[in-house]
Amino acid sequence: MSNVKWTQNSYFNYSSPHYISFNTILYCSLMLLLVLSIFIISTTQFMFFKFERSNQTVNPKNIYTQFNIYLIGEGTEYETPYYVFKGNNDNPIVLIEAGIHGDELAGTFALDKLLYKINVHAGTLILFPRMNIIACNSNKRYVNKDLNHIFPGDPNADLHELQLANEIFEMIGKLKVEYLLTLHESKYLHNPLKSKTFGQTIIYGVKPKPSYLRKWLNLVNQLSVKNEEMFSSYYFPVENSSTEIMVSEYNLKGGFCIETWKGFDMERRIQLQTNVILAFLDTIEFKYSLIKFMESD
Ligand SMILES: [Zn+2]
Repeated sequence: MSNVKWTQNSYFNYSSPHYISFNTILYCSLMLLLVLSIFIISTTQFMFFKFERSNQTVNPKNIYTQFNIYLIGEGTEYETPYYVFKGNNDNPIVLIEAGIHGDELAGTFALDKLLYKINVHAGTLILFPRMNIIACNSNKRYVNKDLNHIFPGDPNADLHELQLANEIFEMIGKLKVEYLLTLHESKYLHNPLKSKTFGQTIIYGVKPKPSYLRKWLNLVNQLSVKNEEMFSSYYFPVENSSTEIMVSEYNLKGGFCIETWKGFDMERRIQLQTNVILAFLDTIEFKYSLIKFMESD
């Protein structure tokens, strides 16, 4: 320590290795600044790169879809939108409708989410999330009449459900729908020994049983985690329902009701409804992709 001179001069004495010189501090500061700049630039570039990467998945060049919004009941109290996605050709034409019962909303929310993610390459996909929007907004099965039992409705009736049923019936004919899925929910998990237990079923109401139903069930059940989540098919015709009337009137290639069980929480039911929809599209070899906005999507 005898050599160390704790003086102002020696502190700045460049020649002595024991002391930190002003130039060393300057040099270290510059190096620190350089390292910091490199870090900031690389982080920004990484973010930019990530943005570019995620942007690539929604590159407009890769989007085949023509997208249009239409209204049912325009100007009425039951006005509600449906969304038409068209790919490079019109067929097949698939309509997925939900909210026919206003207290069965997992399918409605599944369609809301799908709206932002679906990219249709070929064919036409129509999403109709809130068929009875007044009932959906009040979380009730229906207001005056059960919409699922009054098809084809009546354009001159006073009750909004009868007018609405008629507009939906006309719309399905006009759009030349080939496949129809109606999304429902049930309080009861399906038990083949108990009637009116619909939870976790794919219901068809017109025989013969469509041949592709087996493939569809296999695909969707690969995504089920618990035994209770497994879907099964169920023959249960409902007179004047949205599905059966359309199948027989318009000679659809397929018409089904999808029922999730309300015993699961809402988030899981939305996922289960989505699984059934996507498994159906895969079964009929509908050409689509899902847009990824984030890695977690
Ligand atoms: Zn229902």
